[in-house]
Amino acid sequence: MYQFPSELRTFYESMRIPFVVYQDLEGKIIPLLVSDGFCEQMEVPREKLMKLLDSGQFETIHPDDAGRILQATREFAAHRSRYDVFFRSRHADGYHNVHAVGYWLNMDDGTELALLTYQNLSAAGEEFKEFEEKYHLFHQDHFYRDPLTGLPNLNYMQEFADERIHALRVDGKTPMVIYSDVNSMQFYNNQYGFSGGNDLLCLIADVLNKLFPDALLSRGADDHFLLIDAFPGEDEVARLMLETNRQIRAGATGNTTGIQAGIVIMGEKMNFLQAIDHAKSALKRIGSDLNRSYRIYSQRADDEYWNQRYIIENLDKALNERWIRVFYQGILRLETGKTSAFEALARWNDPFRGTISPGDFIPVLERYHLLYKLDLYMMKQVLLELGDRLSAGLPLLPVSVNFSAQDFDYRNIPEEIESLYHSTGADQLIPRSNIIVEITEQDMATGTENFHEQLKQLRSMGYCLWLDDFGSGYSSLNVFSRFDVDLIKLDMALVQHLDDHNGINREIIKAMISIARALGIETLAEGIETEEQKEFLTSVGCDLGQGFLMRRPVPLETILFIVRSDSYVGRWESNAERQQFVESAARPPEPDDPA
Ligand code: C2E
Ligand code: MG
Ligand code: MG
Repeated sequence: MYQFPSELRTFYESMRIPFVVYQDLEGKIIPLLVSDGFCEQMEVPREKLMKLLDSGQFETIHPDDAGRILQATREFAAHRSRYDVFFRSRHADGYHNVHAVGYWLNMDDGTELALLTYQNLSAAGEEFKEFEEKYHLFHQDHFYRDPLTGLPNLNYMQEFADERIHALRVDGKTPMVIYSDVNSMQFYNNQYGFSGGNDLLCLIADVLNKLFPDALLSRGADDHFLLIDAFPGEDEVARLMLETNRQIRAGATGNTTGIQAGIVIMGEKMNFLQAIDHAKSALKRIGSDLNRSYRIYSQRADDEYWNQRYIIENLDKALNERWIRVFYQGILRLETGKTSAFEALARWNDPFRGTISPGDFIPVLERYHLLYKLDLYMMKQVLLELGDRLSAGLPLLPVSVNFSAQDFDYRNIPEEIESLYHSTGADQLIPRSNIIVEITEQDMATGTENFHEQLKQLRSMGYCLWLDDFGSGYSSLNVFSRFDVDLIKLDMALVQHLDDHNGINREIIKAMISIARALGIETLAEGIETEEQKEFLTSVGCDLGQGFLMRRPVPLETILFIVRSDSYVGRWESNAERQQFVESAARPPEPDDPA
C-alpha cells in the first residue's frame, strides 16, 4: 500500500475541496486519505470517516444509483473512462445529491492513485432540480429497487448487505438481521384485493422505516421484509416489534395482525446469507402461533429443532430398519434374589447420529403424538422375541412395556395388544398375565375417561397393569383408591435420596409399601444403585427391585450369551413361585399381623 510522505499527506488533508484518495490494490479499492472539506461535508470526524470508507461506502448510496456507481468505478479503475457521476447519498436528513469526479495522481515512486472529489449539490436546491430533469441525471433502476415500496431489493442486499454489516462491526456494534413475513398475506389479498395488499406492504415499509431509521431496509420476494441494523438489546427489540405491529394494525385499512419476524443477532463470523438462513429458520419455528410476533434465533434452539425434525422424519425408518431395539432390564425379587420379570426399554441406535437416548426421543414423539407407533412396535418385538427366549432355554418371564396415556387416544390399545398376542404366536407360549403394560402415575392421574376405560378392559382381559414412577411428583394416594393396578413402581428419585430432609423419603416409602400391602398391590423399587438402598428396601418389605446394582438394560443377545456361558448360574423365578408371591400380596394381612 502506498505510504504518503507526512508533509504531502498534511497538504492533501488540509484542503477544502471535498475528496478522497484511493489506491486500487488488485481490484480492492482502499481509501488512503480524506480532505478536511470531505469531513466537513459528511459531518463525520476524519478517523471515523476513514473507518466507514474502509468498510465500504456504497451502502449510503441510493439503490437506484448504486449500479451506475459500481459500473463507473470499474470503468475508471481500468482506465476505460472518466469518473464523472451524479448520485444520491444518504445523510441524517435524507438523500443529498452529489456530483463525483475522478482524477489520476501519479506519485513520485510511480504509484498511481485515484482522487475522487464529491460535490454536494443539495444546497443548490431548485436550480439543481432543473438541471437534473433536463439531463435525466437520476432514473429509476429496477435492478436494485423494489418498484412497489421504493426500497432496495434483494439484488441490492446481495451486493451491499455485507458491507453494512461490516460497517456496524467496525463501529463496535453488533449487527442484527430481521426477516419478516406478513401474517396471512394471502387472506388479506383475497379480502381486500391486490391493491389493498399493495397498500399494506407500503404501509409496512413506512412503519419499519420510521421505527428503524438507521437500518438498511429492503423488501424481498412477496411479503418479506428484511433489515440490517445495530442490535439494540432484547428489551428494545421486543418494544420495537410490538410497536411495529401496533402501527401496522392502526394504519391498515383492512384487518391484519401485522408481521412475524425471525431475528438473528450476528456472531463475529456470520455473514449475511447465513444470517438470512438462520432468521428464516427462527421465523419458521414461530409457526402459526399468533401470540408471538418474533423469535430470536439461537444456535441451541436451532440444533434442538433440527434434532426434533430428524427424530420425527426418521421414526418410520428407524422402526423398519431396526435402528430402534428392545433392551431388557432384569427385575429381581428382593427376598430370593431371583429374576422375576423384565422391563422393555427402547434404544435408538442411529447409523448417522449414534445413540439417541429415550430421554431425547420419547418427549419428541410424545409432543408430536407419535409415541403409539413406538410403543406398539416395542410390544410386537417383545412378543416376537419370546420364541428366541424359548429356544435358548430361557424361562418366559413376564415383560413390562411402557405406554403413554396419549397412545390410547390414537389406537384402541387393548384391541391392538390382543391382536399382536395372537398374530405373533405369543398366545401359544405365555398367559396374558405375563404381559404387562406400564403407565406412569402422572398419566394415570390426568388421563381421559376413554383411557381409563381401555385400562379396565386390558385388566379384565387378563393383562397386567403396573404404575410407573410412583411418588415422582404430585402423587396423591387416591390413585390407589381410584384405579386398579397390579403393582406400583416407587420412583427412582425417592429411592436415590433416602437420606434427604432427615430421611423423610424412608418414611414415605414405608408408608407407601404398607398401603400397597393393605390393598394387595405388589411394590417395586426402581433405580437401586447401592447395597444400602437394596438392604433398606428389602427390610421394609418391598417385593421387587430394579437397578444398575443388579442388572443393566441389555439386548436379548446379551442375556442369551450370558445364559449360554458355563459360568452362569441362572436363578429364575418360576410361574408357580411368582403366583404364590402375587397371591400372598393379594391377600391383605390380618389386622393383628405385625407386618
Ligand atoms: P422408566 O420407564 O421409569 O424406565 C426406567 C429408566 O431408569 C430406564 O431409563 C432405565 O435404564 C433407568 N434405570 C434403571 N435402573 C437404574 C439405576 O439404577 N440408576 C439409574 N440412574 N437409572 C436406572 P431409560 O431406558 O433411559 O428410559 C427412560 C424413560 O424413557 C423410561 O423411564 C420411560 O419412561 C421412557 N421409555 C423408555 N422406553 C420407552 C418405550 O418404549 N415407550 C415409552 N412410552 N417410554 C419409554
Ligand atoms: Mg417404565
Ligand atoms: Mg420409572
